Amino acid sequence: MSFELRYKDLGGRVGRLETRHGPIETPTLFPVINPFKTGLTLEEIKNAGFNAVITNAYIIWRRLGGRASDVHRLLGFEGPVMTDSGAYQILQYGDVEVGPGEIVEFQRRLGSDIAVILDIPTRLNADRSEAELGVHETIRRARMLEKREGDPLWVGPIQGGRFLDLVRLSAREMSKLGFDIYAVGSPTGLMEAYDFSTVLKMVLVARKVIGPEKPLHLFGAGHPMFIPFMAAVGVDLADSASYAIYASEGRYMTPHGTYRVDELAELPCSCPICSRYTARELRSLRGQERFRALALHNLYVLASELKRVRQSIMEGSLWELLEERSRVHPSLYNAFKVLKDEVRYLERYDPVRGPQVQGIFFYGDPVRPETLRHLERMVRRYPVWDDTTHVIFMPAPKEKPYSLSRVSRYLESFIRRLGLTGRVQVFFLGGPFIIVPYEISEFYPLSQHEGEAWSKALAIKTLRKLVRGLLGERRIVVIYNDLLRGVVRVFRGRGVVKIAIGSFREDDEYVEKLAAIEPVLREALLGYM
Ligand SMILES: [Zn+2]
Repeated sequence: MSFELRYKDLGGRVGRLETRHGPIETPTLFPVINPFKTGLTLEEIKNAGFNAVITNAYIIWRRLGGRASDVHRLLGFEGPVMTDSGAYQILQYGDVEVGPGEIVEFQRRLGSDIAVILDIPTRLNADRSEAELGVHETIRRARMLEKREGDPLWVGPIQGGRFLDLVRLSAREMSKLGFDIYAVGSPTGLMEAYDFSTVLKMVLVARKVIGPEKPLHLFGAGHPMFIPFMAAVGVDLADSASYAIYASEGRYMTPHGTYRVDELAELPCSCPICSRYTARELRSLRGQERFRALALHNLYVLASELKRVRQSIMEGSLWELLEERSRVHPSLYNAFKVLKDEVRYLERYDPVRGPQVQGIFFYGDPVRPETLRHLERMVRRYPVWDDTTHVIFMPAPKEKPYSLSRVSRYLESFIRRLGLTGRVQVFFLGGPFIIVPYEISEFYPLSQHEGEAWSKALAIKTLRKLVRGLLGERRIVVIYNDLLRGVVRVFRGRGVVKIAIGSFREDDEYVEKLAAIEPVLREALLGYM
């Protein structure tokens, strides 16, 4: 199997998955097709921007049984086809008539490009013991699979639902079995309840266990609002019938939420459908015509959101997109909080080069891709938490990583004594990376570098932009040494306090200087409360 990762941003990735019927650009979504129902044509689906689809092997098995042959011929579609095994029907009806071995064999006969073993999905309201049974039965069935020459790409479903320890267990056992693709199962109910946070937590648990290499699929997650969020935690593939289900209920998708078509005075979209019809005309359509128009519009919206996400990952602006989308709906705001809590993990997978690479050597000039990339990120999307009331800028300690230095130990205890733990964010100034947030200072390459380098010009430029975003109701305290003397002028405005400490050679001396200014520092921090 070939899956190539091309770009990364946060936990999100742009990649390319090779299948026997051509490549799939990820992240993407497979529209669900029912081969026996007249919906949209495959041509229309392709034109909307989808070159791969998913259909249900179980439905084909029930209808055609032994008469079935190649699924591409059946659908009249030459692109990649994924087949699901009937797990969705288990979720809906409790059981299916086909055995796990039988449906595996049947998918081989269909010539599916991507196929799924018959897993036991965890229902939304399943209690723990039911979820546990499903997880173990899915693992047992997964172990029965014997891969053969010419097989489809096999998908290993990870179950457990909202029981995250079961998701972890499931992911761990499945990942030992060498599936081509992993999938997080049964979020459909959670998606319908707009419980995006739980879905993200499930995906994060699974992704952490299986690691970054394998593609990860998310079953039944097809709302445009959620696409940037699921991509940010490393979902590469998803499938959804939502475009059609919503259409049959007269619902019109947008990246900012769903509308009933009857309540729209304007069509806030420029897809071919919305360009052809006015809102009034769209409302007046009936039956199949109305369904088709809405389904097609919904698909265009999904496709354009996928494109937007891929572009954001390529240019490194996914965080901004998430921030923007998080204001669309309270559930997305909560989902964004899940990501903020995971920023350490996301940053770790973010870098172009991993921590296995040796440290960076600096010879005087700090301007190089790693530093510029870091500074750009600092300015464009470094998170300042909502509950941060104080920001401290201070000279970088000599000892690396900065957060483990004795200067940091001193500072932590000082902040604790003031009762401000969790409300202060600290940025270290100095060194080739110019500005290093305390909480990520141990990550590559912020502490894995040698040599001194500093650029006053770069520092001023970056800080000016950063400080602008920090002001507001926050107090900013700047502790500066002689090196930073020429830089501190960028800190100005209400709520800014600057404290000079001269120069120091070693961290012990630095701590002594900090101890000496404690009363002033205390006043600066607490005086604001
Ligand atoms: Zn449209």
